[in-house]
Amino acid sequence: MEETQNILRDSFGRDHSYLRISLTELCNLRCTYCMPAEGIALSPKSHIMTYEEVYNIAKIFVKHGVSKIRLTGGEPLVRKDADVIIEKLASLPVELSLTTNAVLVDRFIEIFKTNGIRTINVSLDSLDPDKFLQITRRNNFDKVYKNIMLLVNEGFKVKLNVVLMKGFNDNEIIDFIELTKDLPIVIRFIEFMPFSGNQWNKEKLVSLQYILETVDKSYDESTIMRLTDAPNDTSKNYQIENYKGSFAIISSITNPFCDSCNRIRLTANGQLKNCLFSTTESDLLTQYRAGENIEPIIQKTIQAKYKMRGGMDTNKKLEDASLHAQNRSMITIGG
Ligand code: SAM
Ligand code: SF4
Repeated sequence: MEETQNILRDSFGRDHSYLRISLTELCNLRCTYCMPAEGIALSPKSHIMTYEEVYNIAKIFVKHGVSKIRLTGGEPLVRKDADVIIEKLASLPVELSLTTNAVLVDRFIEIFKTNGIRTINVSLDSLDPDKFLQITRRNNFDKVYKNIMLLVNEGFKVKLNVVLMKGFNDNEIIDFIELTKDLPIVIRFIEFMPFSGNQWNKEKLVSLQYILETVDKSYDESTIMRLTDAPNDTSKNYQIENYKGSFAIISSITNPFCDSCNRIRLTANGQLKNCLFSTTESDLLTQYRAGENIEPIIQKTIQAKYKMRGGMDTNKKLEDASLHAQNRSMITIGG
């Protein structure tokens, strides 16, 4: 018993209490930075975890100390039994939340409420409907914006994820921050990250430093407040004085936060990834279906975690496209 107690502690002493579960590889949007233009090879349906498997595998992680679960995808809400999965996971002693593109959110308000989901992360990369169409390859801006307002009005804590890309939406940084003047939301600017097939290059990166310089130019220094970040927070948090909401920067590229990482990821086809950037993964589902004890595989996977960004610890490695190509596309990892 003693042996399995710390299976979620890695060789650098990091405890992994936060599990992100991707429910599907499918999505109703086609964001260019996430889904390769040529599409992805989908796993056969029989390789995708059923809702019972999601629940039973999650339970094993909870037994070993996971206290927070985030549902993601693809788009988690396109899964037909998303409501059942939410209900099942809500019965576990965890903080349950999800990341969504919000297209279908209006159908889930009551399900979120009855299952104790209070915080929802929504992806929105532009406030301009034409640019939204360009980046998502779908004409859903009005629906998404309306659903974000619905979530706010229904009392959910909303965090808006904005992936910034040079020459595309970096001129909207202040427009997004101005939303927080009257709305009690958190805008989270995310540095564009490299994954298989997403045409990443460092010229497209909008860095933490650039974002802060842009903010400095637009607001009086005395009104820009640095907030205290939560433990294991991946973001640096700020607020403009007297604004209802706040903003944050997630700088996985220029300022990684690997030292305090507590995250592990389970893909929709039941593979455990010990890091967003890892090029290897462990097949939990096949072993689980074979009736094997998956705890030793989990432990081994956690032990194999690199200190930083799945081993991409230098800019040179980060810029090496042959290394990204060994990872999955983001749409099949789940962010
Ligand atoms: N479909 C849901 C959504 O869009 O919110 C959940 C899945 S999505 C893969 C999770 C998050 O990953 C989103 O906030 C998205 O913006 C982010 N993401 C996807 N590709 C990214 C990339 N290359 N760099 C940074 N963030 C990325
Ligand atoms: Fe779909 Fe989310 Fe990826 Fe966009 S970021 S393609 S909404 S999974």
